[in-house]
Amino acid sequence: MNQRTFFVKTFGCQMNERDSEIMSQTLSMHGYVEGMVMEQADLVILNTCSIRAKAEQKVMSLLGMLRKAKASNKGMQICVAGCVAQQEGEKLLERMPHVDLIIGTQNIYRIGECLEYARKNPGFIAIDLQDNYDIPRFMPDSDLSANKPAEFRKFVTIMQGCNNYCSYCVVPYTRGREVSRKVSDIIDEIKVLIEGGIKEITLLGQNVNSYGKTNIVTDNGLPCSFADLLHLVAEIPGLSRLRFTTSNPKDLSDQLMRCFRDIPILCPQFHLPVQAGSDAVLKRMNRKYSVQQYLELVDTLRSYRPEIALSTDIIVGFPGETEEDFQGTMDLLEQVRYHGSFSFKYSDRPGTRSADFDDKVPEDVKTRRLIEFQARQDEISLERNREYLGSTKEIMVESINSDSIKGRTTTNHIVHVDSSGLGDNIRPGDLLMTEIYHAGQHSLKGKINS
Ligand code: SAM
Ligand code: SF4
Repeated sequence: MNQRTFFVKTFGCQMNERDSEIMSQTLSMHGYVEGMVMEQADLVILNTCSIRAKAEQKVMSLLGMLRKAKASNKGMQICVAGCVAQQEGEKLLERMPHVDLIIGTQNIYRIGECLEYARKNPGFIAIDLQDNYDIPRFMPDSDLSANKPAEFRKFVTIMQGCNNYCSYCVVPYTRGREVSRKVSDIIDEIKVLIEGGIKEITLLGQNVNSYGKTNIVTDNGLPCSFADLLHLVAEIPGLSRLRFTTSNPKDLSDQLMRCFRDIPILCPQFHLPVQAGSDAVLKRMNRKYSVQQYLELVDTLRSYRPEIALSTDIIVGFPGETEEDFQGTMDLLEQVRYHGSFSFKYSDRPGTRSADFDDKVPEDVKTRRLIEFQARQDEISLERNREYLGSTKEIMVESINSDSIKGRTTTNHIVHVDSSGLGDNIRPGDLLMTEIYHAGQHSLKGKINS
């Protein structure tokens, strides 16, 4: 009998990318093989994101397209996973009755059995969210190179969910209560990954700063904080680079900031979402820190690791944001001079508190503010990149083609290097020293130091 093929399309954050890997590995254990063409697959999984309305619309239009594909491929099963599945559930099925399985964020480990059930009972919905959820122990394939020869870095989920209820955010509703994964499960997973050739690990959570705070996690009988976990991971032999994301500034401890000083393999790169540069807006966002407190964190981080490259997330046009509030965000940008940022127009999300705020900012004002913010960020990113000119940086190789190598610095900057004369023994994950001779807005160019 032919094996059933599957195709996973992932939307949204790194958390979803990791969940897609978990589902793919689980499906392989159930005898499925990965297919290359979505329309021809026996099983299509859309792992979805609902953080902004636009992300959700993309999923809906792809589902519309899959309705036609399914009409000409009768055996096809369609599964919607992730945050849209969790949020919409039954409503999604009413709009898209050709969907066979809707699987929520805590159920991905059960995807094999849910699919089996859905084959006989199409339109199955598995979206229960438990408050006392225990993240199942799940180990990666020990032979990583069997499927993807170029793999050298991985995401490792250390917690799920969020308890912060920022007023604009769906995550606490789509991913449930915050829960931290067991220390031993995390360490064992990383050991398997390193044995499989992985050189760089990024630890993932919606707010890693509060690891171990809602459910106590222990190492050798003692409570383990996120900073403790970073030290434990860094001690595992064989790892070249360690990163993490994301951090809510309200929980950023001095102990954690000191890790940037004390752990050499912790990359000097920190994504610290500020969201807005106005105390009034931050308060209505329920972020629980002030602009001044945020700036003090930035100063402390830079005192511990002067070369640290900071990036952030910004929302423009939050309900009630005045021109003066927005100017506060622009001023903050000038003060911090981020190496890069992700900026978004505020988007109403169902069930969130801010969706009910009545002082919405008009779309054209949001667009103008976003353009202004991004234009200035682009200039600053270029200025920041020029600071690297003439310096020598270590890059980790990501990809190699006939005439160039693409790599990444510890500060998360992409560097393109002329590969002529380098021979063909360079592999993804290798470390090279490069001298930076060109700085563009989004990447650098370097030559190999001989
Ligand atoms: N946990 C992270 C934190 O606390 O900063 C944020 C994770 S969230 C998945 C990624 C980013 O999406 C947020 O930092 C925020 O800038 C943006 N975002 C979330 N909800 C949004 C909304 N309703 N409209 C626009 N952007 C939003
Ligand atoms: Fe959303 Fe706030 Fe939780 Fe981040 S900390 S996931 S923005 S609720």
